[in-house]
Amino acid sequence: MENVAIFDSPGKGRGLKATKEFWAGDVIFAEPSVAAVVFDSLLERVCHSCFRQQDKLQRCGQCKVAHYCDRTCQRAGWAEHKQECGAIKAYGKTPNENIRLAARILWRLDKEGSIMSDMQLITLDELEDHIPDMQEDDLKDLKVDIHNFLDYWPRTSKQHNIDDISHIFGVINCNGFTVSDQRGLQAVGVGLFLNLCLVNHNCWPNCTVILNHGNQSAVNTMFHSQRRIELRSLGKIEEGEELTVSYVDFLNLSEERQRQLKTQYFFDCTCEHCKNHIKDDLKLGGVAEVDGVKPTEEQVKEATEYCFQMLEKMESARLKGDYHEVVKICKECIEKTEPVLADTHIYQLRMWSTLSEVQAYLQFFTDAADYSRKMVEGYMKLYPPNNAALGMASMRAGVSHWQAGEIEVGHAMVCRAYAILMVTHGPTHPITKDLEAMRVQTEMELRMFKQNEYVYHSMREAALKNKPMAMMHEPRSVDEGIKNLFHRKK
Ligand SMILES: [Zn+2]
Ligand SMILES: [Zn+2]
Ligand SMILES: [Zn+2]
Repeated sequence: MENVAIFDSPGKGRGLKATKEFWAGDVIFAEPSVAAVVFDSLLERVCHSCFRQQDKLQRCGQCKVAHYCDRTCQRAGWAEHKQECGAIKAYGKTPNENIRLAARILWRLDKEGSIMSDMQLITLDELEDHIPDMQEDDLKDLKVDIHNFLDYWPRTSKQHNIDDISHIFGVINCNGFTVSDQRGLQAVGVGLFLNLCLVNHNCWPNCTVILNHGNQSAVNTMFHSQRRIELRSLGKIEEGEELTVSYVDFLNLSEERQRQLKTQYFFDCTCEHCKNHIKDDLKLGGVAEVDGVKPTEEQVKEATEYCFQMLEKMESARLKGDYHEVVKICKECIEKTEPVLADTHIYQLRMWSTLSEVQAYLQFFTDAADYSRKMVEGYMKLYPPNNAALGMASMRAGVSHWQAGEIEVGHAMVCRAYAILMVTHGPTHPITKDLEAMRVQTEMELRMFKQNEYVYHSMREAALKNKPMAMMHEPRSVDEGIKNLFHRKK
């Protein structure tokens, strides 16, 4: 690890600093997971070896819990499933994801010792578990997990004392990292990456972390190689500068971010953006003055509260899959609050985001395009320029505009998304590759459009019937995998 070094970060304890200069998009380090497991809710829908989502998976004939794409994945995953398989069979049920992860970590430690690779900067023993800081409810859950773990852990495996076992659960609780599917669109599991645990938080960070499953052939040849994260530089970083990532979504108000960081990671964020409440005013503000008229503070507050209530109503309709109701609620709310709230108001942004997503799903492309554009324009005023969530939102807006036949804006949005993802995801990530293809296609279409509008439109109609380049999955929270990098247990 020649790029980074452990150091004492003032006020934060241990941290990582750069030992040389970096530029936007540089990979500072990459590391494989110690262990990772599929979420309880997705056991039958995600491959336990490569973490790809597939419709048809094959079940492990022994434990009937692990699922795999095929024989190749099953063989690649056998080393880490072997003991688990026997333990699940003997236990007679499936332990929850925390317990499965803790057990996988312990089996690996027992087999390989605390140093598992030569690029490892820290051992698991040396990591903080924050158990003394945990709240009572969380401590109760921890005790239940440990109790069940002891039932699950086979007598034939090496025995550990309670302190060592609780330490692992504590570390998972504050360092468990969300593992996404191959396209990075959905959170499918949780894993542990040791060096990553050393990277401190900043609400306006200089790095980002992305999971890259790599290509299929590489996945199958090397054990553990599939769940690899990359720490990527978001801009210029000087030699000696501390490396930081954001554990929470910057779209939240500073107070909310601080609350999240305190309850899950047990520290008070003192970053510039929290200390000075930077951009909080934009996130809850009213519209700018129009013809000398500005909404009063009272009006803004009222609209904010109304919007919040409507969001809850909308969310429950969305969970029921009642998308026409979602559209109705959103439109009603937007009509009332748009004249009052700023275009950066976070509740309004959530309305626009959901409405554009649902309208794209229902194939009302013009509406989807309009609201996605508002969303991206708002995001651009709030997020740092190279932010993964901003990149993904621009991609979605680009596709919506393309679908609505607004090729010029569509192409511009796709290009913007591509530029951001080249930094945050890198050129080999599947999503970046998708974007590259979209960029080429929209560029070609734009050229055609400029030459002959009529021919262009008739060609497009034919193309839309064949539905290429579609990204219209059901509107469940698409950004989830990106925004919640670190796994919060429910
Ligand atoms: Zn697989
Ligand atoms: Zn099995
Ligand atoms: Zn902060």
